[in-house]
Amino acid sequence: MKYPKPPSVISLDNILPDEPLLMMGAGPVPIPHKVAYANSVVINHLGDTMNKVIDQVKVMSRYVFQTSSSHVMGVSGPASAAMEMAIVNLVEPGTKVLSVCNGLFSRRLAEMAIRVGGEVTRYDVPDKQSARPEAIEALLKSGGFQVLTVVQGETSNTVWNRELVEICRLGKQYGCLNVVDAVCTLSTMEMEMDEWAVDVIITGGQKGLSSIPGVSLIAFSEDAWSRIQKRNAPMTHWCLDARLADQFWDKKAYHYTAPVSGILALHEALRLVCDETLPARFRRHAICSAALQGGIEAMGLELLIPAEARLPSVVGITVPEGVSADRVRHVMSEVHKVEISGAFGLNILRIGQMGEQSRTHNLFRTLHALGTSMRATGGKVDLPAGMAELERVLASRG
Ligand SMILES: *Cc1c(COP(=O)(O)O)cnc(C)c1O
Repeated sequence: MKYPKPPSVISLDNILPDEPLLMMGAGPVPIPHKVAYANSVVINHLGDTMNKVIDQVKVMSRYVFQTSSSHVMGVSGPASAAMEMAIVNLVEPGTKVLSVCNGLFSRRLAEMAIRVGGEVTRYDVPDKQSARPEAIEALLKSGGFQVLTVVQGETSNTVWNRELVEICRLGKQYGCLNVVDAVCTLSTMEMEMDEWAVDVIITGGQKGLSSIPGVSLIAFSEDAWSRIQKRNAPMTHWCLDARLADQFWDKKAYHYTAPVSGILALHEALRLVCDETLPARFRRHAICSAALQGGIEAMGLELLIPAEARLPSVVGITVPEGVSADRVRHVMSEVHKVEISGAFGLNILRIGQMGEQSRTHNLFRTLHALGTSMRATGGKVDLPAGMAELERVLASRG
């Protein structure tokens, strides 16, 4: 048998930049050395060592989610896989779902529910605003919803659903299980799963937790778990079947081969959160985001979202007329080795404040890179004023 010639490719050394770019976009974010090291280790996916790791991942996740639920699981896959796990286990054909939609990611939850036969009603929140509890209550009153989906922060357009606590309270009052996407916000701002009546919480690795992409976390409340136990319709997804995943995450038996290295990385990321403590971590994120926002505005640029609905963990910037967001990003990455995000279709820029991104040295480098790159591409900015404001806010609040 004759095999064709193997393809000729270049090595990674010739693809990756000599110096890694500083990842200041909407994720993935920089990872601490301990996380990177853990991610390079392979261990057996079953057995004593793994069991110890899993037990600790669960204990630490409970702290980070602020829950006493025992139904905490890792998911092999992107945050979207955790979103899908939430949906496919709770929604069956005919299940009535109310989806609060602020943008791309919250609409993804609605889309997933439609695909498994859910009867989905979308509440499309007006542009640049947080979801309004009164509007949600009016819809809930119309009746019969069993599941409510909502994001804490909508990364795609940098809107924060500030009234999440009230939204979840209403969801519960009207008999819904509350599914909350906390992918970009978890460990950057307050989240109390039990206290806020969240029934399913979802997060990814590569955002607030500063771990790697591809291994995610999900937790189910007792209410959600008993709904899953009573489920009649067949489960369409084998990998995402919560009852099968429970075999591994609770009973230490085989479901599928867990992404061991990624779970070790997640363990280290969670341990660093526990070391820092949540209140200190929230404070660090709040100060860094406020300083960055202040610096951007002092430079003469406009933030995309008004203060009352603005997400702190991903900051959206309106790009001035005549300047191209793509060109600014290109200069930032080529010249300054700083990577930030554009947006899906809009002429805006997004800078992340998640996990390791919220460090003062990263802020100075990023704001400086943004300012000079704006100038280089035809924007008018007052760079010294921006840098001074960044310094001022950090000094006054640090
Ligand atoms: C990033 C993100 C997701 C999707 O995460 P993936 O890992 O790309 O699947 C979902 N929701 C929110 C709010 C996000 O920020």
